[in-house]
Amino acid sequence: MKAAWDWHLPRVTEAEQRALVAFAHATGFDTLIVHDPTPAMMDEAQQRGVNVCAIITPNVSDEFAHRRPECCQQILPAEEAIAAAMRSVDWEEYTVRARRWFPLVQPGALFCFEHPLAQAELKARVDQALAVADGVAFDGFGFRNHYACFCPHCQEARQGLMAGSPDRQAADIMASHAAESLVRVSQLLYDHAKTRKPTAIVTNHVWPPFRPDPYYAWRLKLDYCSQTISWFYKPHWSLTRVAFGASEMRQLEEPSINRFVPFIGMFHDPQLVRTPARLAAELAIARRYGGDHLIFCSLRVLQEYPDLRQVVEEALTGHDQAADGM
Ligand SMILES: [Zn+2]
Repeated sequence: MKAAWDWHLPRVTEAEQRALVAFAHATGFDTLIVHDPTPAMMDEAQQRGVNVCAIITPNVSDEFAHRRPECCQQILPAEEAIAAAMRSVDWEEYTVRARRWFPLVQPGALFCFEHPLAQAELKARVDQALAVADGVAFDGFGFRNHYACFCPHCQEARQGLMAGSPDRQAADIMASHAAESLVRVSQLLYDHAKTRKPTAIVTNHVWPPFRPDPYYAWRLKLDYCSQTISWFYKPHWSLTRVAFGASEMRQLEEPSINRFVPFIGMFHDPQLVRTPARLAAELAIARRYGGDHLIFCSLRVLQEYPDLRQVVEEALTGHDQAADGM
């Protein structure tokens, strides 16, 4: 899978929708991952032999969360207070200054993955996506506080586990129950997608991070599991860190569960753009540990910076003459 995950290219008109697909294809991507792909995008993609995956999130509106709180993740009152306080902060600016690559608490409401109604709604989202797209890409499947859910359902399940294993520490039980919850929902939605459409591509981007085990994602049942090796925001990760992360993810990969796909994020904001040489080094690391697999996000930076696009195109299509001669 050589996928472009796009948030930013214009797609209001049909011409823009077709141009977006054409740009991804011309750059060397064989897969496009977007929110709500349109019939024109699907038509253009089919003509060009590009697969399209629709993004699926467990996000719920505040209105829904208020009406059906039992389906939603619950966090500690102090964590809710942190989330509320952080709403006044420009998170992107904050993350750069505070050097946190993810917020303390995810701001929006999310389904609890253990609740049957939430699971039914997530399956319906998969159905809706596969009625149009070739596959689905899960994004946002994690915990608001990055470690666990405190809804009555999850608390009761943990109490049951504690009663059964009195020697285990409560925090360990919490971590393992939370990890199992993420693993279970991935399996549930994978099975549902394949039943709905056997040819469906099932992929993801691992987000938000899971603090008890940052490298848990090899356990998620998927075709392709994309894990961040280089992030959008500053400080940009050192190439040593990029290579270390990719190496860990590759070592843990269990191909019968999913294939590891390196995820490289870069936005077009001038202060966030990295150099072509730097991106080429990241792509070489992705190649070393991810083979032919890559997800690059987002496309607009490649459109605005032709030299970056050239680096990506060379990496995807292997047209780098200089490298060939080495
Ligand atoms: Zn819960």
